[in-house]
Amino acid sequence: MSIAQNIKDTLETINNGVSLVAVSKTKPSSAIEEAYAAGHRDFGENKVQELAAKYEELPKDINWHLIGHLQTNKVKYIAPFVHLIHAVDSEKLVKEIQKRAAQNNRSIHILLQVRIAQEETKFGMPYQEAGEMISNLNCDMYPNIKLDGLMGMATNISDQNQVKKEFTELHSFFKEQQNKFPALKTLSMGMSGDYKLAMECGSNMVRIGSAIFGARSYN
Ligand SMILES: *Cc1c(COP(=O)(O)O)cnc(C)c1O
Repeated sequence: MSIAQNIKDTLETINNGVSLVAVSKTKPSSAIEEAYAAGHRDFGENKVQELAAKYEELPKDINWHLIGHLQTNKVKYIAPFVHLIHAVDSEKLVKEIQKRAAQNNRSIHILLQVRIAQEETKFGMPYQEAGEMISNLNCDMYPNIKLDGLMGMATNISDQNQVKKEFTELHSFFKEQQNKFPALKTLSMGMSGDYKLAMECGSNMVRIGSAIFGARSYN
């Protein structure tokens, strides 16, 4: 099956109003070019170096999403061009993004990552902290940051009830915050294995890698 066909097939399974970020991490630029030729423009990477290298090589109308954990000292490499940073999870990082966005004379769009999984190792802010950060981001403290919404990763587990519970909780929190701050519009949840459930639970942005580009040999 070709990448172009996989993109088409995936888009057919996605609800109206849900956007697709094609996760191209570890895959060569030629794979992205195939998806690009099929008309796709939104791609996600989880490593800054890889994202910056692919940005240099590939057409400039691609919307690049950084979906992985971002270290403060690497913000500067993507600040000039990044379309959306999905996994913002600390005040320190927010401050650095503000600084680099201002230096580049632009607004940077971000999502706050909320910790919804049971696993200890997952990044993200607890709900309460995320709530406080959302309020801060809606004051005048960060004029070059545009908070678009929230992102979450469910526990990697076969128990669909657990996954559903985590997605549903994040969706309720998102709705609550959206009532206070109507500019919030994006809820990024769902990967190859759980995006259908995520959409049922209210996701409007899915991040799909292996179902489009095939299995990865490393992460
Ligand atoms: C790798 C990755 C994905 C895509 O995973 P697949 O299972 O290949 O669809 C989605 N989100 C994040 C944050 C990732 O790191």
